[in-house]
Amino acid sequence: MNERDSEHMIAELQEKENYELTSDSTEADLILINTCSVRERPVHKLFSELGAFNKKKKENAKIGVCGCTASHLGKEIIKRAPYVDFVLGARNVSKITEVLHKPKAVEIDIDYDESQFAFSEFRGSQHKAYINISIGCDKSCTFCIVPKTRGDEISIPTDLILKECERATQAGVQEIFLLGQNVNNYGRRFSGEHEKVNFTELLRRISAIEKVKRIRFTSPHPFHMDDEFIDEFASNPKICKSMHMPLQSGSSEILKMMKRGYSKEWFLERAAKLRLMVPNVSISTDIIVAFPGESDKDFEETLDVMRQVRFEQVYSFKYSPRPLTEAAEMSNVVESELGSERLAYLQGLQNSITDEITAGYVGEIFEVMFEETREGGYIAGRSDNNVMIKVQADESLLGTFAKVKVTKNGRMAQIGEILA
Ligand code: SF4
Repeated sequence: MNERDSEHMIAELQEKENYELTSDSTEADLILINTCSVRERPVHKLFSELGAFNKKKKENAKIGVCGCTASHLGKEIIKRAPYVDFVLGARNVSKITEVLHKPKAVEIDIDYDESQFAFSEFRGSQHKAYINISIGCDKSCTFCIVPKTRGDEISIPTDLILKECERATQAGVQEIFLLGQNVNNYGRRFSGEHEKVNFTELLRRISAIEKVKRIRFTSPHPFHMDDEFIDEFASNPKICKSMHMPLQSGSSEILKMMKRGYSKEWFLERAAKLRLMVPNVSISTDIIVAFPGESDKDFEETLDVMRQVRFEQVYSFKYSPRPLTEAAEMSNVVESELGSERLAYLQGLQNSITDEITAGYVGEIFEVMFEETREGGYIAGRSDNNVMIKVQADESLLGTFAKVKVTKNGRMAQIGEILA
């Protein structure tokens, strides 16, 4: 979502203020740092990065801090780094051209409604278009700061999303990538009078656009994975067969403490249904270890879900308390060393599962859309079910589809050859 927010800011600055992108910060007239606050480390990094940019920047160049840490820390940022020219929250992206002209502006209103703002066009990729379908989040997961930095959930009107899909595909985009904190809660609340369309119906309407070749989305919430949604996912050939299902914990007790709204059994049943209906589906997940109160038994439950579901990919983290969250007040903290041990064990288990899964790719044939160049004369792209594959080929094939046979297995990318 931050990547798309950055694209929106670039678009507005190019269109309305005549800025151009540069990769050399010492040449820049404006330096924007778009921040994340989901975990602790990037927040600490912000101030060291700011110091480094300030030292090297051109005289009179402006520095702006944007994103979730901007929403969360607000004017504190200017207090700690007085050379920062403005602070722009994650829910105020459309005001980028305003804050630019307001010295020391701090725009961080999390009730601000930009769900109907028509952003100018800029895309980092010619082949793939990120499209926001909602802003904010209505959930209250006890570990998560996002509802405090991105505000309540508002869906973007369906007609605006469809227009954006049309515009992107007219410009040559093949793959639409829908973004939201809980995409499958789409349609719950719009700002103003709009046709009530749910996520499943939105997927149907987007896939009816002829030039759309592939649809991906992130993140669906396991709680909202009803049968209608899974049926559409399984039967619609334009929907890529990869699903991100953020588990967070495999223990129903911990899930309750996290206020996730589902149990271990619900998650396992939904994942099993997906595997049954879409045999080639790849399922990825997020896991937090050492949440307050997590016992050895709770941790074992998480490992049990991993062994049963056999995720293709796991993003795992050790819990770190975030400000403004309920969990930060919980007293039954898990010792840091134990948390690290659990994380290492879990990652080891996942590595062995990933190795087994990817070993099975050798000899398989996948349809790949080539998206990027790689060192050594390779181009790389993803299969429908999200397997990253690289082949020795000319970059004129970027943006095209081809059937590729995997010849060599790797953890980060498979190596293959294009079938004639
Ligand atoms: S669903 Fe939970 S984890 Fe995801 S953004 Fe909302 S509060 Fe955070």
